[in-house]
Amino acid sequence: MKARVAVIGAGPSGLAQLRAFQSAAEKGADIPEIVCFEKQANWGGLWNYTWRTGLDQYGEPVHGSMYRYLWSNGPKEGLEFADYSFEEHFGKQIASYPPRAVLFDYIEGRVKKAGVRKWIRFETVVRMVTWNEQTRKFTVTVQDLPKDHCYSEEFDNVIVASGHFSTPNVPEFPGFDRFNGRILHAHDFRDAREFTGKDILIVGTSYSAEDIGSQCWKYGAKSVTNCYRTAPMGFNWPDNWEEKPLLEKVDINTVTFKDGSTKRVDAIILCTGYKHHFPFLPDDLRLRTANRLATADLYKGVAYVHNPALFYLGMQDQWFTFNMFDAQAWWTRDVILGRIELPSGKQEMIADVADRVVREDAGKDAHDAIEYQGDYVKELIAETDYPSFDVDGANEAFFEWKEHKKKGIMEFRNHSYRSVITGTMAPAHHTPWKDALDDSLESYLRTASSVAAE
Ligand SMILES: Cc1cc2nc3c(=O)[nH]c(=O)nc-3n(C[C@H](O)[C@H](O)[C@H](O)COP(=O)(O)OP(=O)(O)OC[C@H]3O[C@@H](n4cnc5c(N)ncnc54)[C@H](O)[C@@H]3O)c2cc1C
Repeated sequence: MKARVAVIGAGPSGLAQLRAFQSAAEKGADIPEIVCFEKQANWGGLWNYTWRTGLDQYGEPVHGSMYRYLWSNGPKEGLEFADYSFEEHFGKQIASYPPRAVLFDYIEGRVKKAGVRKWIRFETVVRMVTWNEQTRKFTVTVQDLPKDHCYSEEFDNVIVASGHFSTPNVPEFPGFDRFNGRILHAHDFRDAREFTGKDILIVGTSYSAEDIGSQCWKYGAKSVTNCYRTAPMGFNWPDNWEEKPLLEKVDINTVTFKDGSTKRVDAIILCTGYKHHFPFLPDDLRLRTANRLATADLYKGVAYVHNPALFYLGMQDQWFTFNMFDAQAWWTRDVILGRIELPSGKQEMIADVADRVVREDAGKDAHDAIEYQGDYVKELIAETDYPSFDVDGANEAFFEWKEHKKKGIMEFRNHSYRSVITGTMAPAHHTPWKDALDDSLESYLRTASSVAAE
């Protein structure tokens, strides 16, 4: 009987896995039967925008954490697929910080071309995965949501690609129950226009804090205050943005910070991170890790050391994204196809994880972290037929991006970088980011000359 592989999730990681298997089949390999379970009605993961928050129409937690007007927070030259360039997809080079709809289109273009949609069972949520030591197979129990029907199937391998920026980490601060305004987590943030003319407090210093605050500023918030636990973000913020030490308490509309200062605010947005959350996995299969570059318990960052028939994709904290998921997916595919051999002993795999942790911890700053993850991508792609590309060049794009952010946090998205796949320089976008209120694909793809001619 043909081997069977289950992929959980059809976001960028899961889709990378489907493309990896399809590319082997295209070259004549005999591949297992692939079944991808996706709880949403479409692919793209977080990039599949939804206005919904809380629970969806079936009572399932809404996966989406992305919001309207989201533009890539890093240069696209750092994430470009090595087997499908932006130029191949759009027929021309495009500017470096595409809005969500443009990146969704790009992600979708590759998998449409590959013809892998037939492998995905949409609106089917994975409820439980168990391992049988005797048969050495997994039983995956799912629910077909529209039919409200549960069923189980057996698989030789399971690949978890369910993402880790969806289940919010929600702290509580004294006085929250008496706040006369809206308190929400970044996961539920959808439209910055809701905060036009408002004084908002952002708790945290993550990407979400920086970007949601910037969005609110762009769409006319009266003021933005953000508070930090350890250190301020330290960017050169606009005049109506200030950074404060951590929030201590809330009283009606007044918030008090650790330094004793106070501020009146209309809304509080908790940008306090996400949890690795796998409610469908039992204790013996469930990954428990911090959000870091060297994840716990994953050999080569993907194979679960306690049961290497199980793989996890994209569980790292991320500088590299789409191309790293590809590197992981091609590597995982080759283990499953028997082209790469795993160490025979568990200790060897555990030692690999420990070594990765030590090397990550030796890094001093973001520069080291980017190089560390770039080296990881290089390591994996060297072992497969994923098209090799100039990872150091992608690192350079990230280094420049960091510098551009330091110079102007509201201007960094106006810069352009060179593709490491095609060698072409990206054009400047026709409108500075802060003035570009229309984030549609049609608007983004217009050229500077066509805009000037109007
Ligand atoms: C607000 C925000 C902004 C971001 N911006 C950027 C950016 O600008 N650039 C960038 O490169 N990255 C960005 N990211 C990072 C993002 O993590 C990756 O780009 C990418 O989406 C991760 O892909 P993934 O497939 O691993 O996970 P996801 O995109 O989260 O996809 C996981 C999929 O699994 C499905 N799923 C989950 N549980 C189940 C289940 N039990 N059964 C069936 N299906 C299930 C989900 O429905 C989803 O489709 C951002 C993240 C967030 C939260």
